[in-house]
Amino acid sequence: MSNIPEKSRTSSSRPLAAVIGGGPAGLMAAERLAPHAEVQVFDAMPSFGRKFLLAGKSGLNITHGEPFDDFLTRFGDARTFLEPALRAFPPEAIRDWAAELGIETFEGSSGRIFPTAMKASPLLRAWLARLRGAGVIFHVRHRWTGFTEEGSLRFRMPDGDSTHAAKAVVLALGGASWPRLGADGSWIPFVEAKGISVAPMRPANCGFDIAWSRHMKEHFAGAPVKSIMLSFGGKQVKGDFVITSTGIEGSAVYALSAPLRDFLDAGTKANLVVDLAPDRDETRLARDLAAPRGKSSMANHLRRKAGIDGAKAALLREHAGSDVFGDPERLAQSIKHLSMPIDRPRPVAEAISVAGGIALGELNSDYMLVKMPGVFTAGEMLDWEAPTGGYLITACLATGRAAGEGAARFLTRS
Ligand SMILES: Cc1cc2nc3c(=O)[nH]c(=O)nc-3n(C[C@H](O)[C@H](O)[C@H](O)COP(=O)(O)OP(=O)(O)OC[C@H]3O[C@@H](n4cnc5c(N)ncnc54)[C@H](O)[C@@H]3O)c2cc1C
Repeated sequence: MSNIPEKSRTSSSRPLAAVIGGGPAGLMAAERLAPHAEVQVFDAMPSFGRKFLLAGKSGLNITHGEPFDDFLTRFGDARTFLEPALRAFPPEAIRDWAAELGIETFEGSSGRIFPTAMKASPLLRAWLARLRGAGVIFHVRHRWTGFTEEGSLRFRMPDGDSTHAAKAVVLALGGASWPRLGADGSWIPFVEAKGISVAPMRPANCGFDIAWSRHMKEHFAGAPVKSIMLSFGGKQVKGDFVITSTGIEGSAVYALSAPLRDFLDAGTKANLVVDLAPDRDETRLARDLAAPRGKSSMANHLRRKAGIDGAKAALLREHAGSDVFGDPERLAQSIKHLSMPIDRPRPVAEAISVAGGIALGELNSDYMLVKMPGVFTAGEMLDWEAPTGGYLITACLATGRAAGEGAARFLTRS
């Protein structure tokens, strides 16, 4: 039974499908369903794809050009489940799909793939227009609040509540990071009430807290630390990070964030090791630092002999004992292996993405909830995680596509 306003109802005899969540996963599900059903897309926010648009602020890293076998390894334990969907919509297919929407892409030197315009808005605009052209009906300010006893969908709108019946439903409600953009995890109790297992949401691609001294907070919050190498748990990442008032964030930190988070969650203390001069050999560095410094200050000596100054020098002073500065060998060792004690990950709300979500064991290969025939799920609300590098959007698009096609097959069969 539908209480959706008359103007939004359709008169077609085609089966009704509802997609809840208008991010990349939901929109892709709508695209695959549109030829087979009357599709209505609902979103709690006043507009669609807000997180996708935010991702566009840093260029919209939409996918990655590395060899596909390497690409698949980025999904860790979830790889086996996700692989068929990723193979069906691999990075080249995503580039072709964007090109069909008039968006050319390019591969950067790191293999990351971006739209040439380095933003999301033209792609989202063209995509929504194409979906409207295919007959998809959009509803904003419709917050999904669960299922009725009969299995209809409940919505809360600014002017009251409504219910909506659909033969197939795709839930694509996102994770729980950056909740002000729409995905806030408020869907979790509604699916748990149906006996669906949901792994707790945990921050992924996140920053970490470090108990900085007052000096570090006051003078270096916001300072980039460039061209370093971070090591944790046998993994090493070259790159940059940023000192924040509470700790550290940025690409090199995100790349190690999953094992670091897991380690801390297990209640173990963790140290991140920084190589402040990854291109310098430690023995050579010690020899250079042993050169007489005459009247030169230690700060000048470090800058001239080791290229260490600014935020790097501050980190060294923060975490290496003051006694190492008088011993070139120990100083070189601290520059190459500076140990930073990490307290905890930053909260989920601040993370780029999440780990946790609907357990993959609850789904069949069509992304349908086995306990809820006709209800499909996709995107970041599922229990997988991946690093930054375009893997997140790729998996959201690929799982949205798989769920949309699964829902279309379900409609054809029933
Ligand atoms: C700052 C930042 C930068 C990023 N950059 C990149 C990048 O460059 N490359 C990359 O691959 N990934 C990036 N990501 C991650 C990527 O944007 C997400 O993984 C992706 O948007 C998730 O897609 P989704 O469709 O699953 O969920 P979302 O995009 O979160 O969409 C979910 C939708 O569901 C709606 N919704 C939620 N609850 C309800 C409800 N109860 N009722 C109705 N509607 C609801 C929300 O309003 C939202 O529109 C970035 C993320 C952030 C925060």
